[in-house]
Amino acid sequence: MPDRGAYLKTKLNSILPKLTGQASLLIVSKTRPIDDIKIFYDLGHRDFGENRVQELQEKAEALKDRCPEIRWHMIGHLQSNKINLLLSVPNLSAIHSVHDEELLEKLIKAEDKLSHPVDIFLQFNTSKEEEKSGFETYHALCEAAEIAVTAKKLKLRGLMTMGTLRTEDFEKEAGRCFQDLVVEKNKLEAELGLKLQTSMGMSQDYEIALREGSDWIRLGTMMFA
Ligand SMILES: *Cc1c(COP(=O)(O)O)cnc(C)c1O
Repeated sequence: MPDRGAYLKTKLNSILPKLTGQASLLIVSKTRPIDDIKIFYDLGHRDFGENRVQELQEKAEALKDRCPEIRWHMIGHLQSNKINLLLSVPNLSAIHSVHDEELLEKLIKAEDKLSHPVDIFLQFNTSKEEEKSGFETYHALCEAAEIAVTAKKLKLRGLMTMGTLRTEDFEKEAGRCFQDLVVEKNKLEAELGLKLQTSMGMSQDYEIALREGSDWIRLGTMMFA
């Protein structure tokens, strides 16, 4: 598919200069075919995100020999009955969506199944929208972070959030959400004496996230369509 390859290459080349060496790009490949993932991999890209454990597991299995250096990131809502399946995914690199303390504790209980370290991000609900998951207060976040640092194979890497979807002024709202996450991150870093990252920004608001200093932008739609 030479045309598809050329097309995806222009997508990658248009975004990489905007990262200015500061942020990393996570290509969100949910619902996209493994052929497209392979194209990005052959262009040198390594980090891919999925939001459903089943789909992640199938894709990771299908690509593990052809893409031995791929790094998979789970970014979607995680149900505790999927933890064992998730931790068995080949080349699992990070879980961005650890949304409450109960889930965190179950993940830690299951971490012996991992053959290698996996990064975790605590999801913070900055938008306060009902359907969004995540920790709601600094206190809850801090309590979870203190538990997370006791894990052995799971490594607390940072905080994740999503900007507000339904709003009159989404640019202003996204800016507020991302600034809030950075404030929480700075407080936690000071309290725990750790260096943490932020995972924030999607196709519609990644430029705002970059302005606020995001370490990981998660782009789906604009990388493929
Ligand atoms: C789908 C998804 C993305 C990517 O969204 P796009 O708008 O397609 O860029 C990022 N983060 C999460 C958690 C997602 O579920």
